Amino acid sequence: MANRSLGISDTLHRYLVEATLREPPLLRELREETSRLSASNMQIAPEQGQFMALLAELVGARRAIEIGTFTGYSALCVARALPADGRLIACDISEEYTSVARRYWERAGIAGKIDLRIAPAIETLDRLLADGQSGSFDFGFIDADKQNYDAYYERTLALLRPGGLLAVDNVLWDGQVADPTDTTPETTAIRALNTRIREDERVSMSLVPVGDGLLLARKRP
Ligand code: CA
Repeated sequence: MANRSLGISDTLHRYLVEATLREPPLLRELREETSRLSASNMQIAPEQGQFMALLAELVGARRAIEIGTFTGYSALCVARALPADGRLIACDISEEYTSVARRYWERAGIAGKIDLRIAPAIETLDRLLADGQSGSFDFGFIDADKQNYDAYYERTLALLRPGGLLAVDNVLWDGQVADPTDTTPETTAIRALNTRIREDERVSMSLVPVGDGLLLARKRP
């Protein structure tokens, strides 16, 4: 499988995967089906999915939310880690990609744990906030259009309970964040959010160089 972890040699990456990946056959099948799509690089690496499931377990997640679902690999990883009465709200705008996701969620027997919302995520998040659901989520994952990252961060943080954990994907952006000549809106938005979260006293945080960079922020009690 492709090495999509920054700064790790292919040899070491292969070892990491072969020695420690616990990917069930169905998740592997989803990953392989997704790899044939032109947008396949939007799928998280399997070792990252395993890591996120562990994070969801660590915070005792029962209610989770994901911004950017694509073909459903990350949602499947996290939903499997939730208890039987757990729920993941999955936000995406694509019927096409999430139809792949729904097929695998059904087959995995966890479709009942996932509430898919097809709409611009800011609308879904604002509706949840308006419905009084602030402070009620245990785990959040942001992996959608980078120019809205700041808006997603602020809203998802409001939805998290104190002690809840937020994970933000692609924060190293294939290394582009470290190239000062890259001033594209996406790179600029990611850099701005990384700095902003560092300065944000509402959270404890750490940038973990797994996959394309995963920034973890725990809402302080
Ligand atoms: Ca991503």
